[in-house]
Amino acid sequence: MSAEAPPPPAAGPLADARAQLAEAIEHLGVDAGTHRMLATSRREMAVSVPLRRDDGTIATYEGFRVQHNFSRGPAKGGLRFSTAVDLDEVRALAMWMSWKCALVDVPYGGAKGGVAIEPRDHSLAELERVTRRYTSEILPIIGPEVDIPAPDIGTDERTMAWIMDTYSASKGFTVTGVVTGKPISLGGSLGRAMATSRGVAHVALMAMASRGLDPTGASAAVQGFGKVGRGAARLLAEAGVRVQAVSDVDGAVWSEAGLDIARLGDHVDEHGTVVGFDGAEAMDAGGLVTLDVDVLVPAAVEGVITADNAADVRARILVEGANGPTTSAADAILADMDVLIVPDILANAGGVIVSYFEWVQSNQAYRWSEREVNDKLEERMTRSWHDVVDYSGVHGLSYRQAATALAVRRVIEAHELRGLYP
Ligand code: NAD
Repeated sequence: MSAEAPPPPAAGPLADARAQLAEAIEHLGVDAGTHRMLATSRREMAVSVPLRRDDGTIATYEGFRVQHNFSRGPAKGGLRFSTAVDLDEVRALAMWMSWKCALVDVPYGGAKGGVAIEPRDHSLAELERVTRRYTSEILPIIGPEVDIPAPDIGTDERTMAWIMDTYSASKGFTVTGVVTGKPISLGGSLGRAMATSRGVAHVALMAMASRGLDPTGASAAVQGFGKVGRGAARLLAEAGVRVQAVSDVDGAVWSEAGLDIARLGDHVDEHGTVVGFDGAEAMDAGGLVTLDVDVLVPAAVEGVITADNAADVRARILVEGANGPTTSAADAILADMDVLIVPDILANAGGVIVSYFEWVQSNQAYRWSEREVNDKLEERMTRSWHDVVDYSGVHGLSYRQAATALAVRRVIEAHELRGLYP
């Protein structure tokens, strides 16, 4: 077997993740064998998930759990329900989780899971059966000391409760630490539901300050109005930013004066989409990323800012609420345009930071106050922001290059201290 890193796929999230790793490896001057090890997942499980549908027929879905690295602790990462899920996507997301956990210094490696299913096409009872069956398939490789899932696209705290229950039933006792992002009444952490959004808004405000931009005079657009985008839009609006546009998978809405995010949230609760909100005009969702706003927050899916639209981006600050929203080609174009990019592994790390706090609380059967959680979250986000800004300044790197290099260096340090077994 060659010591070279495996050739990346031509395009897509795994190509982007491997390209970022390759840059960090070159910057750090790391050997080819270590590069190959870090480009490869430590463990990958592909399962098929049969589901008895409510009408009695059987459907079967592909499912995956990928554990990219364990050097700094148990693997940690979300579970995604989306028809876009495939093994390469899960591999990329797992690798980014390793870097994210190292960057914000939580004692985890990276993992990710996915089932290639459209949750909106299924009843609650079907989703519960799919979740429990998927959990039972991956049961041998998860656990509070092994790999701890959390919510991601298409999953939520209810999904986590089903995973916890299925895992606990197999053990014969309740194991709350096997998942994070649980309902509060089952040991979830106060502050977890808003944690990713809070982190996104926090670094967005720090990025604005670094560019001399007063939030009360600034405008923003947010792509995605789910667990991350909705809270980020709300917190930015609360800080005085005019959030002029928001989109979801069904469409987008726009208001020159800024959207009333609370009212928009009520509309989404009632109708399941931002489309049709009476406090705004409808707009083409594809045009959201090129709107003339100060801050752009992609908080939906990967690969939305590409070589095709990057040159048309008007925002001066891009805060990656989503994982992998900017392709490598777009990244280079935006760098030439001097757009400040707060990379995903920093911008959306609030989720895993508070997941870590939740895991600590679950393992100790103890609860912190929401104030304590939020203060500790902001402290870690601020520290990580300064780590990235300082490293970027010293080495002349973009924030993404700096964040990845810092994280990869920490993972390599753990590898070196532990040595290679046997
Ligand atoms: P979610 O399922 O709660 O929401 C996703 C939102 O994106 C929905 O509003 C959906 O309609 C919208 N969407 C989907 N495809 C779209 C498209 N092509 N264009 C516009 N909107 C689209 O998911 P989430 O948890 O908010 O996750 C969003 C992103 O944030 C993902 O990249 C996820 O990996 C990342 N992330 C989530 C967390 C977390 O704690 N939930 C933490 C870190 C990173």
